[in-house]
Amino acid sequence: MTKIKVGGIGVPPVEENLPPVVLRNYGKWDTHENERPGVIKHIAKSGEVCYIVRIAMPPSRVSVASMLDLCDLADSYSGGFFRITLRNSFEFVDVNPAKLDELIQKVEALGFPVGGTKNSLHNIIACPGWIHCNLPATDSPGIAKALGDALFDEFKNQRLPAWLKINIGGCANIEEALMADIGIIGVHRDIPIVLEDKIRICEQPTVIHSCPTGAIKPKGKESVTINAERCIHCGACTMHCEAILTGDPKLDGFAVSVGGKASNTGSGPDLGRIVIPYLPNNPPHWEEAVNAVTQIMNAWVKNARPDERIKEWIHRIGWDRFYKRAGIRVSIKDVDGFWFNNEFARSDLRFGW
Ligand code: SF4
Ligand code: SF4
Repeated sequence: MTKIKVGGIGVPPVEENLPPVVLRNYGKWDTHENERPGVIKHIAKSGEVCYIVRIAMPPSRVSVASMLDLCDLADSYSGGFFRITLRNSFEFVDVNPAKLDELIQKVEALGFPVGGTKNSLHNIIACPGWIHCNLPATDSPGIAKALGDALFDEFKNQRLPAWLKINIGGCANIEEALMADIGIIGVHRDIPIVLEDKIRICEQPTVIHSCPTGAIKPKGKESVTINAERCIHCGACTMHCEAILTGDPKLDGFAVSVGGKASNTGSGPDLGRIVIPYLPNNPPHWEEAVNAVTQIMNAWVKNARPDERIKEWIHRIGWDRFYKRAGIRVSIKDVDGFWFNNEFARSDLRFGW
């Protein structure tokens, strides 16, 4: 009989995986300095320092071969210690400062750029999209790659007014995209289709119950009907019945949001608002996505004050000026802050402030 080690289940004690310098100064870190793009120097109250080198990672997936290469570098330059950040950046932890240049040269030779710190473009995050999900309306990793290529210099240099975070979600079920300075959100533009010849295989009550807006009603004893007026194209019903399909290659695309923020610095966290309700899917270079994002970013770079995130810049100048400066046409489908109207009245489109 297999013996189960007591305490061998679950997350191992955190101390087992911490670099010695982190363990020695656990809970006693004082501050950090940005040495140069991609290099952060953490300083403990004891005076000890810990250097971190941050690199960009591919959106949503990384090959075993790449991970083995990075692990070899971690063994050679950071005592085998590394961490993956919330934005999927890879960080070598506790690098010898005398070996920083050598490590940066070697990791960049593998194709991983060093950067994404302070006032730069931080690692773009994207959901896996078509790789493993049945809901996406767009190819999140593909757009992330196209944007990463187009904005490569902004990842490597700290010359933006403030941090720039771009999140990409393949469908409207993800709130993560609305929590970034610029978000891309996949949108289905039509209601799901019901395969009448197969729908009887599904459990009617489960399918009806899965709809968050009550758009699905029974149709006889074996089928269902979808009310287009109520359907928000979320695709939840397709997860409960394989006879309901969502997505149309000719209609699907994505929306663009701006002004989201997850951190509590400055004026605090906020949800972004949709400013471009639809752009078509256009792989492999995703020109529409790249143009929209660079257009918004350039307007912000040109007009923002130092350390002003996109949200704070828009709230200072007002949404009407944002649309003009970014060269975006106002659409009736834009989200204009209905839920937070009092809070955002000052910057509401209808005020023209
Ligand atoms: S955001 Fe949507 S498309 Fe992307 S993984 Fe989540 S459910 Fe799937
Ligand atoms: S896509 Fe979403 S809103 Fe539309 S019918 Fe299905 S579950 Fe309901």
